[in-house]
Amino acid sequence: MKPYDAVVAGGGLIGASIAFELASEGMRVAVFDVQHPGREASWASAGMISPAPESSAMASLLPISMASVRLYPEFLQRVEEISGETVGYRKEGALDLLLNGTGQSEIDEILALHRGAGLRAEPLSGPEAREIEPALTGELHAAVYRPDEASLDNRLLTEATLDAARRNGAEIFPGNGAKALWSEGKACKGLHLQNGRVEARWTVIAAGCFSARIEGVATYAPVTPAKGQMMALRCAAVNLRKDLWSGHMYLVPRHDGRIIAGSTVEYEGFDRSVTVAGMKKILNGAISLVPALESARVEETWAGLRPDSPDHLPILGPTDLDGLVIATGHFRSGILLTPVTARLIREWVTTQKVSVDWTPFSPMRFQLARHGRGA
Ligand SMILES: Cc1cc2nc3c(=O)[nH]c(=O)nc-3n(C[C@H](O)[C@H](O)[C@H](O)COP(=O)(O)OP(=O)(O)OC[C@H]3O[C@@H](n4cnc5c(N)ncnc54)[C@H](O)[C@@H]3O)c2cc1C
Repeated sequence: MKPYDAVVAGGGLIGASIAFELASEGMRVAVFDVQHPGREASWASAGMISPAPESSAMASLLPISMASVRLYPEFLQRVEEISGETVGYRKEGALDLLLNGTGQSEIDEILALHRGAGLRAEPLSGPEAREIEPALTGELHAAVYRPDEASLDNRLLTEATLDAARRNGAEIFPGNGAKALWSEGKACKGLHLQNGRVEARWTVIAAGCFSARIEGVATYAPVTPAKGQMMALRCAAVNLRKDLWSGHMYLVPRHDGRIIAGSTVEYEGFDRSVTVAGMKKILNGAISLVPALESARVEETWAGLRPDSPDHLPILGPTDLDGLVIATGHFRSGILLTPVTARLIREWVTTQKVSVDWTPFSPMRFQLARHGRGA
């Protein structure tokens, strides 16, 4: 197989967007995937672009999350223009719902977390929130409105990004995944594939939760799958505009009238089954927020595997093997972090400099921790 400037293992949204960016620079790029690309987490996702930190422990994610939010409009414009497809982007904001029994201190804590992060957040009473979303439960005590949040159809975005990468000249090889890194001494020469091997100046690992299965990658990217179950509902009686959150439960209205309801976080290996317990949890949560959803039609159920890392932070950047770059471990934020990930990998590959500090996400942090030299 001919040598490339860059090869990417994995054609999910992360790999596709990296291929798109590198091909935009005129680089000769190839994407290798074990199957038809874009059918894993990037397909299964809820598609929310939500930079709000779930807890203060995730605060280190905020600078790249905000950078990604800023990059999104231009990224989408380029992908949509080059692919000729639209991706159902909706910037309607989100409501964080606090049911009866929530204390004022909890509301203050949420507001402080968001405002401390520089995000707009407005407290609303239950009736004020129901004025915005009349289908909300009467059990609502209060809400926090986050006007800057958005969502999109991640399945459409992944297909459009793959298409835009192709149109920019990237070659995509379904059914020929990476088996192992091809390394010689301190250099990564490319990939050993299911079918042959391929040489490249740059090798990017973006195989989501499967990355650690590629021989030689686990020390840099010890990712594990975190299953999330989901369902799509349709209900003539409910017309939501905002993304709704309550704890880990969410409802995301789509441009086509469906409501995506999720999710669970389960550590069950690579199992993708939809379970009664998972569906029960999601349905109970959905009905507790929007009671009229009891009459909804269930259009689809599915489960996907998020790429989680030991500290739940992404794994981004160069390694101690010259030419090897990692872009995985995006866990619950891979859709949010797509534009910034693609941008940073492009900057590194073309100039060896990056515009946003990515040292907290270095693939070398796990080796340093193991040898007792770091956190
Ligand atoms: C239920 C659920 C809800 C989510 N909701 C959100 C959300 O609202 N907002 C958000 O920002 N994020 C969300 N996420 C997270 C987000 O979807 C992921 O972080 C993101 O899609 C990861 O993209 P990826 O390209 O790294 O991985 P994937 O999309 O999993 O793609 C990996 C690709 O690698 C391929 N592959 C596997 N093995 C190999 C190999 N050996 N060689 C080559 N290729 C290989 C696979 O076939 C696949 O195409 C959610 C995830 C789930 C599961």
